[in-house]
Amino acid sequence: MNEMQDGQYFYHPLENIEDVDIFYEATERTHLTKAISEERPYTYWTIELYDQANGIRGGGGLGILAADTRRVAEQMEVPFALITPFYPSETHQKMVNGQVVDEHIKVDYKKYGFKFIDQVNVKCCDNLCALDVIEKKFKNTRIIAITEPNFGELYSGMSGSDHRLYQEVALGFGGYAALKLIGLKPAIMQLNEVATFFAALARLDELARNGMDFYEAVVYTRKHTLYTNHTLVQAAEAEFSYEQFERFVFPNLKSLAVKKWLKDKFTDGRIKLSSVTIEIAELRSGVSKLHARVANYRDIAGNKVKFKAITNGIDMKTWVLPDILEFYKSCGALNDILAPVEGYAAKLDSLTADDVRKFKYKGREVLNEVLRGRPNQYGKILRFDEHDFIFDFKRRFVDYKRPEMPFEDPLRLRQILESHNAHYILTGRVHAGDSIMGGKLKRVLGTIDQDEYLREHVHYIADYDEKLAFGLSCGSNAAINIPIVGLEACGTSWMKDIANLNVLISTHDGGVADGSMNSYLNVSGADEKEELAMLYQRMMDAAEIWENDFDLEYTLKTQLGAFLPVISGARMMQDYLDYLFPA
Ligand SMILES: *Cc1c(COP(=O)(O)O)cnc(C)c1O
Repeated sequence: MNEMQDGQYFYHPLENIEDVDIFYEATERTHLTKAISEERPYTYWTIELYDQANGIRGGGGLGILAADTRRVAEQMEVPFALITPFYPSETHQKMVNGQVVDEHIKVDYKKYGFKFIDQVNVKCCDNLCALDVIEKKFKNTRIIAITEPNFGELYSGMSGSDHRLYQEVALGFGGYAALKLIGLKPAIMQLNEVATFFAALARLDELARNGMDFYEAVVYTRKHTLYTNHTLVQAAEAEFSYEQFERFVFPNLKSLAVKKWLKDKFTDGRIKLSSVTIEIAELRSGVSKLHARVANYRDIAGNKVKFKAITNGIDMKTWVLPDILEFYKSCGALNDILAPVEGYAAKLDSLTADDVRKFKYKGREVLNEVLRGRPNQYGKILRFDEHDFIFDFKRRFVDYKRPEMPFEDPLRLRQILESHNAHYILTGRVHAGDSIMGGKLKRVLGTIDQDEYLREHVHYIADYDEKLAFGLSCGSNAAINIPIVGLEACGTSWMKDIANLNVLISTHDGGVADGSMNSYLNVSGADEKEELAMLYQRMMDAAEIWENDFDLEYTLKTQLGAFLPVISGARMMQDYLDYLFPA
């Protein structure tokens, strides 16, 4: 059943592991395109996947991106395998007496069409841990997940904790063994952040102990591994200790040379996974132009690491209201794989304010439907009609995204909403145990509660998820995205807004900074006070734009003109393929 039990784990001669010809050619990395096939797919490794339709709930943008990348690969017919954990439990949030409370819900993979394949083992603390390998296929793509009843939840525990290390080791070594079990060889390994480092390590170990010269094995692994970074500062990353590696990592390595290589990477008995991920991946990317330029990472020798800019995109089919998507296709702006064609901007010229209002009316019905089962902070079920104006702020409650900023001058906020009969919908989850942001949310809810107008017009919806994200993108009029400039790597919720014809109010950060400051309603200022004044001004501007057909058409066409290629998931996938498999 599993190979480790009888001591034969990974004991395959080299020819069985890899296509030896392609193997040596590939050190040049030029002939790889032909190497992508059903048995040799593009492999994508992620600790987080956000794909509720398939039973896996993530935490935020990292998981949404992973799900979109697979769906786009499916549409583009790229053979693709996504390897991720299936967490047997997930957290939801609900409001109880005005307080946000976490609840934990069990999830059963069998209900989501996953098939049990077999078990694989990883070694942890002198034990063998059996992991279930499960799989779900979708045309040319598949999700391969590893799981066991005590696997825990996504991001449970502290980031440098034993449990996190166990989860990451299980994904890396267990996932790599799962690929072998299914009979797949990776054409490329894309590591979605450093928590997936152990997958590349498992491959290096397999090559090194099956007859490949160690340095060649390193070169080969490096040429076939892409590290996609989503974080700005290396210093913020958690570390693991040598002692933790002795319990969880070294026992899974068979090659003495690889063990030695890894042991040498510790400084003062500690290791950051980014430092070794940089060593094992020659291909490295950042997730927007700005992020790739400013991400501050050093390799072990102390040199600054260069990242190739490949801006995230979204799967248009998942995130765009079907009527609007149909418009993009029928006017010829998007082609069959939903990528923008040359001259797309001119094709969008036929969009009229009437169309936009019609789409928005449809989108509002979608939003009302989503809100039916999701009361606001007062337990009230909301319903909006076509005359209501809706601002939304929908994102994880983390400090740099500044969810509290619009509430700093509640009187001004009230004036803005009153002057345009507007509502403000706020949604976003607080990470379990984040007492600072929990406190901020409480203060925001308190501010709202003190004003009778705000009580009726500002709504907090608990348990932000994909459905709410979609409903709000389709159904609101203006979206607010105000991260502290320099701290958002890319962000994708603003992309859903642009695609669904919302007016975007944003600071110039992340992927938004791929466009010019004139292509959306920009919020900037020398300090937070100036930024706040400009935010309120932009909220007034947005409401006025919707009152004037010409302004509405002009604003939305300018946004689409600047961003349609940026937000296209097909564009993103093509960028990855061009980078990984140069002609
Ligand atoms: C799109 C989406 C995100 C991404 O949000 P950003 O703040 O833009 O990174 C996070 N969570 C959910 C549920 C989403 O749908």
